[in-house]
Amino acid sequence: MSHPTESAHPRQSAGEPLPQRCVDCETVTDEPIRVGEVHTAAGVGCDVWACPVCAPRLLQDGEAS
Ligand SMILES: [Zn+2]
Repeated sequence: MSHPTESAHPRQSAGEPLPQRCVDCETVTDEPIRVGEVHTAAGVGCDVWACPVCAPRLLQDGEAS
């Protein structure tokens, strides 16, 4: 028996978000930040992602006027 902690865990855990395209500058970022949600006509919700650079501005736009 080898090390029990070395089991084959896939890298796609919940704590590691997959790369997403920034909704603003369209850069693919490894550190996507969820800035909102859109609902399509079909009623399906889609997360909106932004890169760390654009996220603070987008989040501000949504709250303050
Ligand atoms: Zn961006």
